[in-house]
Amino acid sequence: MRTPKKVLSLLEHEDKFLIVTHINPDGDAIGSALALSLALESMGKETFVYDRDPVPRFYEFLPGHNRFRPDLKNILPVDPMLILLDCNSPARAAIDEYDFRYSLVIDHHETETDFGDTRWIKQEAAATGLMIYFLIKSLGVTMTKDMAVNLYTAISVDTGTFRYSNTTAEVLRVSADLIESGAEPNRIADYLYETWDMKRFHLFVATLNTLEIKDDMAMIHITKEMFRKTGTRAEDTENFANFPRVIRSVKISALLRELGNGEWKVSLRSRGDVNVARVAELFGGGGHRNAAGYKMRAELGSVKEALRKASKKFS
Ligand code: 5GP
Ligand code: MN
Repeated sequence: MRTPKKVLSLLEHEDKFLIVTHINPDGDAIGSALALSLALESMGKETFVYDRDPVPRFYEFLPGHNRFRPDLKNILPVDPMLILLDCNSPARAAIDEYDFRYSLVIDHHETETDFGDTRWIKQEAAATGLMIYFLIKSLGVTMTKDMAVNLYTAISVDTGTFRYSNTTAEVLRVSADLIESGAEPNRIADYLYETWDMKRFHLFVATLNTLEIKDDMAMIHITKEMFRKTGTRAEDTENFANFPRVIRSVKISALLRELGNGEWKVSLRSRGDVNVARVAELFGGGGHRNAAGYKMRAELGSVKEALRKASKKFS
């Protein structure tokens, strides 16, 4: 993968960067942001890392996770250049009410907007972390262990730890190089998949008990009451949407999560050629072919009904 010259020259010539990623950040968003921040700082640049939502507890093993700041308003007067990562619209990052002197977008999502003064969007990239790996190499920055752990985690999360169709030879070569730079696959996989709190597991059991399967579509949901009863939060639901897809006959799996004020967050996962980004776009959301999402304001029954109808067109 080649990093565009324009992207490199921007990073070389600017001094202050505000690195922002999408709301409810996942491992690719967090790992990419931290690795880029570490790399730019090693070049003597100043970086600020922002996300509207906190880093989920199970990502607190990522080196530099405390770089994320919640106080965007204090950073803006410094007038940094914006780097928007792992998403391509300011709305996805909840920064749409602000103006930026200059913006660079680095992303790999199928659903695109035209935001950004310079845009590097590679839909075929398995993870934003993979793009950041090539960017760091092109900048001539030494890959430290801390950067490697962040990037290996980013790539790991977006490839389902090397199981999804985006797991290419290049992904494995890059990951092997990150291991040589200090990332430990077993330790990272343990943090990602085997460190649940008991309460998260209770929420998971309750969520699986809501399973409804019709035709080749599976739905599970989580109400605010279920969060309250188990003492959990939205971040505890990462990966839940994937589970019903383990059933061989299921082509689309959906997790509906109650947000409050009558709104639901829908997370979609699909098998093979079924493109759920297209389904999510019908509702104003987006994502990738096999993982996408959107929000909808309606009763749970209506959200499910609308989703069933829309999905029929694509499966
Ligand atoms: P998740 O369901 O895990 O939140 O997200 C799955 C994928 O869909 C991620 O790549 C995420 O960035 C994307 N996605 C989720 N919700 C939305 C949304 O509301 N809008 C857009 N454009 N993408 C979304
Ligand atoms: Mn990603």
